[in-house]
Amino acid sequence: MADLKLIQGDITKFKGDAIVNAANTGLVGGGGVDGAIHRAAGPELDVACRKLHGCPTGEAKVTPGFNLPAKFVIHTPGPIWRDGSFEEPKLLRNCYENSLKRAVENNCQTVAFPSISTGIYGYPLADACDIAVSTIRHFDAPLQVTMVAYDEATYNAFKKAMTA
Ligand code: ADP
Repeated sequence: MADLKLIQGDITKFKGDAIVNAANTGLVGGGGVDGAIHRAAGPELDVACRKLHGCPTGEAKVTPGFNLPAKFVIHTPGPIWRDGSFEEPKLLRNCYENSLKRAVENNCQTVAFPSISTGIYGYPLADACDIAVSTIRHFDAPLQVTMVAYDEATYNAFKKAMTA
């Protein structure tokens, strides 16, 4: 079982093996946490991402962390929330699971996640937290996972999901 803890802060400051990026399918760098990660990692991250030729929703691809304190960035495009009937829950679960698989493949022990899809992509926060927490906790590998909530609402929602 992966171990899960929660902090509030900026994921670009995470000192560990890997951070996960809530990317878009083009891996071209956008707003939100994606923009923050690209700014902090430097322009080499964009060059590395372009060589990956995109990533389907729910899958995950790895680059180095370049100027970030983390060694790797695991890029996973979350589902854009429509009404829940377009496989959004399954796709969000896939994001967490495939990101954790990439972490294991790259011999990572410490991994940080932002709250995937609950920003610009509009996934309902409480439901997204339940999926994140159960998928991480059920993942069978000795990983230390940190959820990095940027804002207080996200922090409180994860705290609730973790104690439920
Ligand atoms: P998505 O497009 O998957 O919804 P967003 O980047 O819009 O992704 O939002 C995902 C979450 O990341 C939101 O909770 C947002 O507040 C948060 N976020 C934004 N910047 C950072 C950061 N520097 N560190 C951690 N989380 C961040």
